[in-house]
Amino acid sequence: MSDRTLVVDCHCHAGRGDGLTGPWDTSAPLDAYLRRARAAGIDATVLFAPFCSDYAAANRVIGELVARHPDRFLGFAFVHPGRDRGRVAAMVEEAVRDLGLCGIKAHRHDGRLTREVCAAARRWRLPVLYDVMGDVAPVELFAAEYPDVPFVIPHLGSFADDWAAQRAFLDVLARHRNVYTDTSGVRRFDLLVEAVRRAGPHKVLFGSDGPWLHPGLELAKVRALGLDEDAAARVLGGNLLKLLCRVRKSPSDAVVPEGGEPPRPADPWHPVPP
Ligand SMILES: [Zn+2]
Repeated sequence: MSDRTLVVDCHCHAGRGDGLTGPWDTSAPLDAYLRRARAAGIDATVLFAPFCSDYAAANRVIGELVARHPDRFLGFAFVHPGRDRGRVAAMVEEAVRDLGLCGIKAHRHDGRLTREVCAAARRWRLPVLYDVMGDVAPVELFAAEYPDVPFVIPHLGSFADDWAAQRAFLDVLARHRNVYTDTSGVRRFDLLVEAVRRAGPHKVLFGSDGPWLHPGLELAKVRALGLDEDAAARVLGGNLLKLLCRVRKSPSDAVVPEGGEPPRPADPWHPVPP
């Protein structure tokens, strides 16, 4: 593996929540994460909020971090499919235009992914990182309904090691060209091996779920896959950066014509079978 391979962690939380249930809705401090990531050779990190009661405000915190350290951080906008209903488009527009964020994060714990969230992603060509919490079957539906939106389903579909859900997800990952996964928190190593083998190295993104999981430990799992240089470069950062290349920055560029079918993304690595 080349020393110059760009390593980008696609999944790390930052900021504060007010749930006080556990670290996931209370605090995501970056000090130890950044020290560990530096030691592990991680070049850049995608940040988004922890669970909290006001994602619009939390996204502004992420925007400030990205603005202060544009070479180190990228940011995704967290949206709540239920509580933010009716204002997702405005939140995402602010996130892209004013905060410089380049993706959407949503979580099944908050609510099922909605058409409103998918439409906002389509409008700005953003990837959606959506934790399905083992609820894998709907991926089939939104991936087919929004073929131009890339969906990154972290943890092979289950942070909780739900083996049956992860197995079911592998099939969806292999069949849908716009479905991706990240490596964060996956314990059953052979499922990661299978994900790369069946879906291809272009469908798997390195992520740590920092700061709560150790980014060096999570990166070691990816290195242990023993991928060739090209495949490793994709998983470690290339796949994410390719998704972000599509993101629209200007509002005039962001309108999908009414009733018009958006073009399918060009993906030379995963051609549609005849
Ligand atoms: Zn997470």
